This record gives sequence, structure tokens and C-alpha cells, in this order.
Amino acid sequence: MKEINNFEYNPNSERKNPMDIKEFQKYVRKNNFIKESAFLIKSETTSFIPERLSKIANSYALVFSGPPWNEAVKCDTDGQFKGLDTPLGSKCNDCGGTYVEAYPLEETIDYIKKESQKLGFKSREIIDYNDDTIGFAWSYLITPEKLVQSKWNDSKNQNKIIDLLNQQNINPNQNIRYFSECGIDPNFRGIGLSNLLSNIVSGPEITIYRTNCLSPMMAVANRIGFTQIMGPEVIIDRQAKNIFETGQVINFLDIENPQRTLFIKKF
Ligand SMILES: [Zn+2]
Repeated sequence: MKEINNFEYNPNSERKNPMDIKEFQKYVRKNNFIKESAFLIKSETTSFIPERLSKIANSYALVFSGPPWNEAVKCDTDGQFKGLDTPLGSKCNDCGGTYVEAYPLEETIDYIKKESQKLGFKSREIIDYNDDTIGFAWSYLITPEKLVQSKWNDSKNQNKIIDLLNQQNINPNQNIRYFSECGIDPNFRGIGLSNLLSNIVSGPEITIYRTNCLSPMMAVANRIGFTQIMGPEVIIDRQAKNIFETGQVINFLDIENPQRTLFIKKF
């Protein structure tokens, strides 16, 4: 897959660089995307441009508010997420807390900023003509030991993941690439944008990512050569755009989140 030409982002300049648009239109046409094909792909090698952070944070909140994540609101007391059908400000049935925004703007900007300061950070963003983010992805380098400490709570679970990576000949103290986030606006799914972004932010180091077994990222995995090493096995029906669990399990289920899957690619 080909990366679209880089262009400089300057909020005050005319950014409709004909070269970039043509390249990208060719790409979306090849992928049978027939809606208005007017996007630019923004290329940044190290971090997101500060002016773009709020747009990316908005897109982040939008992407994860819907299925299969359903993280639209969050209980301010026990941190439980709920989907779009739970009104903001309503009371949590479990603990009496109040549902607040799952990904408030400032907090999400801070999170993305922190992510972008990590070792070997790689990111890409796709924007439309209104300047809004319709897709984002990023990755960074981290050792398995540090990764499990930051991403899993249970120490038994942490050790299981370390063992699993060890079976892949990955030392707990070697740096590998963690593909941290990828999101595509629901209106622009199914046209290969996650494949494009995922390819760009993966490798050349051994790359791993976690996702939900019903997430669109399950389809990306086998398109771009990742292998599932943990979690529920699924069948992907590309025509019906559906994902089904087969009932089989690859290695084991994550006890903290049984829907979680883990993927690896060695470059
Ligand atoms: Zn609660």
C-alpha cells in the first residue's frame, strides 16, 4: 500500500494541494469508495501538530462512543462506561454516581499529548475538507514488561501476557512497537482507511496491538499480516460487514476483559 505524499500543515494556508488530493482520490476509487472523495491524508513522522489535537480528540470521542466499544459516558464514581443510549448526567444504577462524558476534550487532548511523547512515536491522521479528523492511528516503542504494567491490572494476567510474548521469542525487556490506537469515523468505515493507517504506523519493529473481538480492527489484522495470539476466534463476513465469534479461543481469554484480543506481526 502506498503512502500519500506528505504536505505541510498550516491552518492559514491553502491546503488543497492538487497532488495530494489526486493521489488520495485514486486510492479511494481503487477501494470502491464512491462518496465525495475529497480528503487529504496528513503525514507527520513524530507527533501530532498541536493545532490538530482538539480535532483528533473530538474524533476519538466519536469513534469510541459507538459499537462495539460503547464508551459514550462514564460513571464518575466507578469508572464504568455506557453507550449512547445512556443520557449524560443520569445516575449509575450500580453505585449512584453520575454519568459524565467518557472522553472530555481537555482530558483526551492530554492523553494524546502524553502518548505522543513516548519513545518512537509514529502517527497519522486523515482529515476532510472541513478540517475535521476522520481517521487517526498511532504507535510507540515499549518493553513487554512496561506494557503489561500499564495496560493490565491483574498481576497473574500480566505474567500470562509476558509468557505468551516469550513464546514468540520476545524478551520482556526488549523494545517492541505497541500499536496503541486506530479509529475511523463510522461514516468512513469499510473503505480500507484502517488498513492504510495501520500499515503506516506498524513496524519495522515487532508490532503488537490489542482490540475487542468485535472491533473493525479484527478485519485489519489478516489484511495486513497480523496473527492473533490471544482471545476469542472470529469469522469475518466481509460482504455482510459482520463479525461472528466461533466459540473457539486462541491460547486463552483475558480474565480482565474476555472480549479482548491480541495480535502480533514480525517484520
Ligand atoms: Zn457507577
